Amino acid sequence: MNGTQTGGRRHRVVIVGSGFGGLFAAKALRRAPVDVTIVARTTHHLFQPLLYQVATGILSPGEVAPATREILRRQRNVEVLLGEVTDIDLERRTITANAPLTTFTTEYDSLIVAAGAAQSYFGHDEFAEHAPGMKSIDDALELRGRIFGAFELAELETDPAAVERWMTFVVVGAGPTGVEMAGQIAELAHRTLPGEFRRIDPRKARIVLLDAADSVLGTFGEQLSAKALRQLRRLGVEVSLGTTVVGVDDAGIDLVDGNGQRSRIGCMTKIWAAGVSGSPLGARLAAAAGTETDRAGRVKVEPDCTLPGYPEVFVVGDLMALDRLPGVAQVAIQGGQHAARQIIRQVRGEPARQPFRYRDKGSMATISRFSAVATIGRLRLSGFTGWLLWLAVHLLYLVGFKNRVTAVLHWFVSFIGRGRSERTVTLQQVLARVALQQVTGAADRLVPGAGGTPSAPADTAPVAPPHQRPDAAVPGPEAARRGAPESTTG
Ligand SMILES: Cc1cc2nc3c(=O)[nH]c(=O)nc-3n(C[C@H](O)[C@H](O)[C@H](O)COP(=O)(O)OP(=O)(O)OC[C@H]3O[C@@H](n4cnc5c(N)ncnc54)[C@H](O)[C@@H]3O)c2cc1C
Repeated sequence: MNGTQTGGRRHRVVIVGSGFGGLFAAKALRRAPVDVTIVARTTHHLFQPLLYQVATGILSPGEVAPATREILRRQRNVEVLLGEVTDIDLERRTITANAPLTTFTTEYDSLIVAAGAAQSYFGHDEFAEHAPGMKSIDDALELRGRIFGAFELAELETDPAAVERWMTFVVVGAGPTGVEMAGQIAELAHRTLPGEFRRIDPRKARIVLLDAADSVLGTFGEQLSAKALRQLRRLGVEVSLGTTVVGVDDAGIDLVDGNGQRSRIGCMTKIWAAGVSGSPLGARLAAAAGTETDRAGRVKVEPDCTLPGYPEVFVVGDLMALDRLPGVAQVAIQGGQHAARQIIRQVRGEPARQPFRYRDKGSMATISRFSAVATIGRLRLSGFTGWLLWLAVHLLYLVGFKNRVTAVLHWFVSFIGRGRSERTVTLQQVLARVALQQVTGAADRLVPGAGGTPSAPADTAPVAPPHQRPDAAVPGPEAARRGAPESTTG
């Protein structure tokens, strides 16, 4: 095809999603003789691994979520469109997307679907209302509001039992996200907030981390897992393993332990860091292609990351099921770059497709300031050395010089000092989700689909991981992320 098609126009590549997979695919097409359209439902590229720092007041949203069009402003062959893709017509080669107040359809010659994953409650979506997950800037800001708000409301309470409920924080899921979140709430309670309140002592906050599995950071191996557990306990985090969540409401969480013993923790703040399932778009795509998704809702692809029967459609990142690769940033980055390379080969007239070869660059998770665990090949790092590596890798992968500089300043404030520069919360941030649900729900009742957020078809409901008990929600490992060793963002 040599870069042009009949009609003299250039090869059109449409990319769905501006996360790691979508952004790195677009960048890899920088010098290719193609026209690229990114369609994403947010205007930013989100660096999800640092969301927990937005939730705990260390970083601002802008530092982890720069505008996609700003990142790509110098890349003349890319346009960025805001829209939630609701339909992919594989025969006509078009995608249709909803944006506020409009719907548009775009044609493609090659399509890269990098729509990522959503939070999974393992069939118990009703938990979401009281135990928000952490997948988006909205989630992180809502959690920030809930965490700092809990201390404020504890200060106002006179009933000791109610104070205790406000000052108890339960994090469900002891994978990297849960460990990082629990560690940061502990640092808030023990380093940042003491001295600021007059009626409560923030150091008395109870932080509980629980998981159905029998270890924290299980994929890091026994040695690092044990170190992480010790470090968490030193920080004052109560770790409860082999524990299954069976109920969540506004004032607490109901649990069953390994012996079938039921218990309840009274707590106002619950954070869900336990599971992910592929974006609903994946199930729609698989159904249209007559192919399958795996149990986590990810699309099963050919070895070259294409949709079976549709060599012009690539699925990459968290939405891709291939060789049991984990849902981590490096899989998405390398998958996006691989898809771009295959498209370049095609427009150059080199038709033979290459299989995707993933290079595992290692895994890491922070526990607290100056303490992290990391694996790179056979190397195992922990403590301060692990943390230095974490710092270097995250600086390298944060997008934009400006963001790196301000992130370093904020880390300096929080890790060397005790402060948190990004503590601003508004009631609207906490209530906006409920309000939005009501507004979009009302709009949907008047005009189906008008709410802009298409509800997932029945067959796209999150699928529980194999170890789920049929009668209970299992706060199991962060399903896809822990399906195989987690890679770092580096
Ligand atoms: C809290 C958290 C912490 C993490 N920590 C780490 C870590 O330390 N190390 C690591 O390697 N990985 C980590 N991960 C995983 C990593 O972030 C993901 O694997 C990675 O982001 C996947 O990239 P992706 O491009 O497939 O999807 P995403 O980055 O999720 O991007 C999906 C994109 O698709 C868009 N989109 C979705 N549906 C539609 C639609 N219908 N229409 C249009 N656009 C759509 C979204 O808006 C987004 O732009 C973490 C994830 C989370 C949530």
